[in-house]
Amino acid sequence: MLEKTGVATEQDLARVTPSKERRAKGPVAVIECFQRIPCNPCQTACKTGAIKEFKDINDTPEIDHDACTGCGLCVSSCPGLSIVVVDETYSEEEALVKIPYEFLPLPEAGSFVTGLDREGKPVCRAKVVKVLNTKSMDRTPVVSLAVPKDMSMTVRFIKLNDYFSDNTIVCRCEELTMGELRELIRKGYNTVDEIKRISRAGMGPCQGRTCRQLIMQEIAAATGTKMADLTVSTYRPPVKPVKLGTIAGGEHGE
Ligand code: SF4
Ligand code: SF4
Repeated sequence: MLEKTGVATEQDLARVTPSKERRAKGPVAVIECFQRIPCNPCQTACKTGAIKEFKDINDTPEIDHDACTGCGLCVSSCPGLSIVVVDETYSEEEALVKIPYEFLPLPEAGSFVTGLDREGKPVCRAKVVKVLNTKSMDRTPVVSLAVPKDMSMTVRFIKLNDYFSDNTIVCRCEELTMGELRELIRKGYNTVDEIKRISRAGMGPCQGRTCRQLIMQEIAAATGTKMADLTVSTYRPPVKPVKLGTIAGGEHGE
């Protein structure tokens, strides 16, 4: 399966996933390297001995998760981009995932990106917390991402958001920016009504005519949901701006 699709199977992953108990103790490396190839920089980079010595250069790495400190040296040393460090103690709601990233431009710390799973499907919005780039030829840049805690073992790639910047105004009436919207989605506000109640987007004079679609697009991209499957927000009359005097007195003498 892995040879045909390039995507690890659940059985493959079960063999290399640190236990829930270990993940609850702090940062730990997850090594998703399944093919026998002549390669061992991960083992030579590991100063704690957590990655056991190879008997044969073609061995796949074996790691003692309890001996791993989550330092991340193996992440930037692996030419196969097969290692991430996961820290589920990062905060109450979020985990920190350190991934290797070889594309240019590098994301900027503080920006929001789309978290992708192993198949490249969007699964959540992620915040770039740090970008480590030593510019050394044999070290891959490492991007630290804050993701919803239940996505720690799912997010393995990212897609930069190059269409709308975080400064783009989504709701002109209530001045909600794309960055603020992305932060709300990342915190779990995943319907238009939830976004509306927390931010007032869509409650201004235009009644959501501009922002509703943009908010839905962003929720769909961040959560990997089809637009058609999203819950549409509540519409209430009037469907266009109307003067109070018109409501009180009627229009055209009506
Ligand atoms: S994260 Fe650090 S301690 Fe853990 S396996 Fe990698 S190099 Fe070793
Ligand atoms: S350096 Fe990366 S590709 Fe090479 S053996 Fe270690 S985990 Fe596998």
